[in-house]
This record gives sequence, structure tokens and C-alpha cells, in this order.
Amino acid sequence: MLKTALVSDRRYMLHVAGRAHPERPERVETMIEMAESLGRPGLIPLTPRPATPAELALCHSADYIAAVERTAALRRFDFDPDTRTSSATWKVAGLAAGGALTAIEAIIGGAAENAFALVRPPGHHAFAGRAMGFCFFNNVAIAARALIDRHGFRRVLILDWDVHHGNGTQELFYESADVMYMSIHQYPFYPGTGAFNELGAGAGAGYTVNAPLPATFGDDEYLRIFDDLLMPMARRFNPEFVLVSAGFDCHYRDPLGGMRVTEAGFLAMTRRLKRLAAECCAGRMAMILEGGYDLRALAESGRAVLEELGRAADEPIARPAAGVRAIPIIQRARYFHEPLWRFN
Ligand SMILES: [Zn+2]
Repeated sequence: MLKTALVSDRRYMLHVAGRAHPERPERVETMIEMAESLGRPGLIPLTPRPATPAELALCHSADYIAAVERTAALRRFDFDPDTRTSSATWKVAGLAAGGALTAIEAIIGGAAENAFALVRPPGHHAFAGRAMGFCFFNNVAIAARALIDRHGFRRVLILDWDVHHGNGTQELFYESADVMYMSIHQYPFYPGTGAFNELGAGAGAGYTVNAPLPATFGDDEYLRIFDDLLMPMARRFNPEFVLVSAGFDCHYRDPLGGMRVTEAGFLAMTRRLKRLAAECCAGRMAMILEGGYDLRALAESGRAVLEELGRAADEPIARPAAGVRAIPIIQRARYFHEPLWRFN
């Protein structure tokens, strides 16, 4: 049984994004209750620490950090129609970034083999200088930058399975070869980015990998794309730490997404990532919660992931029998990456 740090806090409920907003406090409450009722051996509950201003500045501009801080004096501020603060947002968003940092520190310090940070607000749409899409600070990106700049890691993989493309994360690392960003997402869809030909640039050319999918793809298609595209490229990259932008809005019950991933699919994706991390980096892997707007889907998928994180890394991996609709996606992504990666 592997030790998994479970980073969460009911203070994550204090950020209110607006009346009837899908990114609501109950999301994290549901996940905390699921984890508390799980009774999984080897689960280590940890209280997140806030990110310091210098840690936020690993990915965000000073002007933007100050702009978010100023909202603490306001009852409400709208960065865009979807992305609204309440007076607690500044602190809670800093605690979400800090939750991602707490997760990687638990692994680096040896308290746990892997980690799951159940945080909100989410982060992967946040840019260096702009809030967007329910996100204020880019939690996963701050963790990646901290691993490289503060902890001496040289190669970090971010895999993003949220149904939306993580445009903020992609942009932050677009010209970096030390952070590989992979996203599997619905397309065309919010936020509009994440096409095949967004590959990275400069020193980062080839280190951004997008698998844009039409709606209605489910477990078999996702797993084929993992097996025939994402995991082989990740192995070539040979990460020293694996971070996962774990959004559960590609679940079939989700009210915003149009995908059909089930709990078994999240379990199987986690198993593949855990195998990758075991092969490349002694199992070091931290999941960071992004989206997911159906409470039951969140709890049941989160449970599947948490249970799988505890299992040994040599559990069998079954090749999906169906999912042939994924083949053209795999071929197109490989076509764009071929000159940079030379497959086979
Ligand atoms: Zn999402």
C-alpha cells in the first residue's frame, strides 16, 4: 500500500464565485467527505500552507498579484463574467497554490509517495497576468516552477485531463523544455486553444502536446490516446516529477463537458501515470484538482483515483479493446510532433 498525502481544507469553501456558479464551495466539501469516509490505509491528511508572494511570483506578475490582493477589500470583483471574487478569494486562492506546494513538499520530504491536493479555486486557465475561467493563480504551474527553481528538478511533466484546455499552463511553459505540458481536452470548446499545431516554441518546441478531441469520447478513446501517444512521449521526456491537472469535468455526468469518461476511466488513467512515475521518477506524482462540476461524479471519480494511488505500481494494465475513433487523433498529433521527436 503506497502512502498518499491528501491535502485539503474546509477553508477552500470560503471563496464564493457567484450565485448558482458551477465552481461552488460544495465541490471541495464533497471531496473532503468522500476522503474522510474512505478509510484507506496509507492516506495522510495534510493541512495546506498558503503560498508566499514570492511563490506566486514564480508564475505571476507583481501587478497581477497586487490586483488580486486588492479584491480582498471588496465584496465582489469581476475579472471576467465567469471569474469573480469574494472577499475571501485572495486568501483562498493563495491557499490553493499553497496546497499544490504542500503536496510536492510531502513527496520530496518523504512523508508520502504520491499526493492528491483537493483545492479550489482551480488554476489551469490562469495566465501570468490574468485571471480567467474560474482560475486566479495557476496552482499546478506554481508547483512545477517551484520544483525546477527551488527544489533542483530538471524535468517536470504536467498532464492535464480536465475537459478544458489548460491555456494558462500551456502559455506559461510554451518556450520551456524543462516542463512538458500535455493536455487531452474537448475541442473546439472553451477556452478555444489546444489545437494539434500548438507544439511549443523556441527551446520548448515539441514540449507542448495537445490531444484535442471531439465531444462524446469515453474511456476507451482516452486510454488509447494514453497508450499510443501521451505515455510514450512522456517516457521519452523522462520526467523527474509528474504533476496532474486532475479535472473531473470530462466525466459523463458533468454539466459543462461533453465527454463520457467514467470512474473506471479515471482509475485507468491514474494507473498509467503511476506506472510512468514509477519507471521514471521513483513514483513521484502529485494530482491537483482542477474542474468537475457534478458533485456525485467528483466524489466517485475522486474515490477511484485515491484508491488507485494507494495500490502498487505493477498492477496490470489492460489495453482498451475499442476506441478506434481515437486513432486519427493519435495519428495527427504524431504527424505534428514527428519532426521534433522522431517516433519509432
Ligand atoms: Zn475544466
